[in-house]
Amino acid sequence: MSQRACKWYLLCPMKVYYEQGNLDRKWIDNYCLGDWGSCIRYQMEQRGQAHPDYMLPNGELRKELAR
Ligand code: SF4
Repeated sequence: MSQRACKWYLLCPMKVYYEQGNLDRKWIDNYCLGDWGSCIRYQMEQRGQAHPDYMLPNGELRKELAR
């Protein structure tokens, strides 16, 4: 586990959803402040691949998060 937060955290829609109360804290703890290398969003960002804001770190799509 990394001691540092994911480099995208401050810009990531997961942070916004969490702060709005729409996303469980476990996603932040497990990925953004934990094993961010295993985050699908992170991996796609590294490859320059587009991905929707409402895609969770495990690749699951949660359209209800989009507005
Ligand atoms: S969701 Fe993924 S890309 Fe976004 S901050 Fe968390 S670990 Fe990084």
